[in-house]
Amino acid sequence: MKNCIGCNKSLTSDQFSKRSASKDGLQDKCKVCNKADNAKFRKEKPEYINEWRVGKTDVLIAINRKYQSKWGSGVYKITNLLTNQIYIGSSKALLRRRNEHMEQFSSKNNTNKLLLQDILIYGRDNFIFEIIKQCPVKEARELEAKLIKKLQPHYNIKWK
Ligand SMILES: [Zn+2]
Repeated sequence: MKNCIGCNKSLTSDQFSKRSASKDGLQDKCKVCNKADNAKFRKEKPEYINEWRVGKTDVLIAINRKYQSKWGSGVYKITNLLTNQIYIGSSKALLRRRNEHMEQFSSKNNTNKLLLQDILIYGRDNFIFEIIKQCPVKEARELEAKLIKKLQPHYNIKWK
């Protein structure tokens, strides 16, 4: 039995989620309390939901696997329709990357703060995501570098 620090109930260990960093390998709050905490957090801080989701890697990996094959790898362009400024990128999973930029407003590996900032300022509807070419990752990286050099895209250059 273990005492939950949230509800103070004495509960069996299966009522607690695992946490390898703890001495007993369990979280300090029971599953019910954790669930309530998460719901409260989502309600109070909707802007942090995406960051919160990033921590749920098992969920994200499942989502990524589902989408990875959908559009495959390649080079893409994001355009700010109000300023015509662009961003060029490549990804091994185009649909996932599109969602990271345009829906979740986050990209763990490739956070372009300037682009993100403008999406939040100008609004997501004023940006379009276009696929330039669907091709293997290596080819995509090369084409991405070539296009950045040639076009000097605002969001790539100013970001560095
Ligand atoms: Zn509890």
